[in-house]
Amino acid sequence: MKSSTADAVGALFRHNVLEMAEYEPPQDAERLARRLGVPVERIVKLDANENPYGCSPKVQEALAKYRGYHLYPDPAQEDARQTIAAYVGADPGGILVGNGSDELIDLLMRALLDPGDEVVDFSPTFGMYAFNAQHFAARLVEVPRNDSFDIDVERALAAFGPRTKLAFLATPNNPTGNGVSADALEGLLETGRVIVVDEAYAEFCDTSFVPLVAKHNNLVVLRTFSKWAGLAGLRVGYGVLPNAISRHLWKLKPPFNVNLAALLAVTASLQDVDYLKQNVSRIVEERERMWLALQEAPYLAPYPSQGNFILCKVLGRDAFAIREALARRGILIRCYSHPRLRNHLRISVGRPADTDAVVDALRTL
Ligand SMILES: *Cc1c(COP(=O)(O)O)cnc(C)c1O
Repeated sequence: MKSSTADAVGALFRHNVLEMAEYEPPQDAERLARRLGVPVERIVKLDANENPYGCSPKVQEALAKYRGYHLYPDPAQEDARQTIAAYVGADPGGILVGNGSDELIDLLMRALLDPGDEVVDFSPTFGMYAFNAQHFAARLVEVPRNDSFDIDVERALAAFGPRTKLAFLATPNNPTGNGVSADALEGLLETGRVIVVDEAYAEFCDTSFVPLVAKHNNLVVLRTFSKWAGLAGLRVGYGVLPNAISRHLWKLKPPFNVNLAALLAVTASLQDVDYLKQNVSRIVEERERMWLALQEAPYLAPYPSQGNFILCKVLGRDAFAIREALARRGILIRCYSHPRLRNHLRISVGRPADTDAVVDALRTL
């Protein structure tokens, strides 16, 4: 067979893949360090809501001494599901562990979306809902949040059409930092569509809708070890799901979706919750200190946050130019192309020294 031209190969791809824009990954700390000629420890990485205190030492220990890496992990995730269930106060049968909570977003969409179906989200919000929806040729219906970034339930209900299969609601919302009320959530649940509450930052605000899952067969709560437990690099998240939903996701789940190191890290982390919660407290305390310090900058208006990050409106200056100026000093923060966030910055909460570095740099810009 003759090899094809690039065009002929291109013609083999699904229509919606051809239409997709290339994904813009976040900046890499190692690469920035090399470019600036400084050691990577000098980079102040406040662009991805990672945990500056790292994972539990018990995770390091458990992973170093484990001797079974040549065997496949348990496809039923029994140990991890038991310990997670005890941690969140849910039934182990309703827990599904994923390769990051990102995988659960993908599994839900794979299970529910035919081309042309609709997904609702509340913009501005976490970008993965829109990103994943494109893979399924689904239509993303963005319901705009109001001026204080709260969701408008009336407006949301009006946006639900006959083809709306699921809605994603992050609380506290990334990047705006605010939570959703139980009343608003109940309003959405009444639609009977699958409502996914993304609680990636629940540990930073101590509120959760997990107890509601037992009462609603259309409610899914997503959680992750990436932020509070410092396991972003191992990729481990989970869903708390009613049986009506989980039984279909189990059919689609790749048997070995969560690797052994990640599963070991879950049980080790949950044996060290007090230690990890201490770090969460330090971050929450630092969040309040950073919020006050950011208020001092005349061109920044920080929003209150219940997560481990603070969104700021930039007044009379260009947010992207600020990001570039900070990057030249080895400080990474996040900017957005979404129209509602065009002149906004999101700064993750790090250690006190990280706050000092970013506040100092912002002051001298
Ligand atoms: C960071 C984040 C996640 C985390 O995803 P993982 O795949 O578990 O790392 C999920 N949802 C939101 C809103 C986030 O900000």
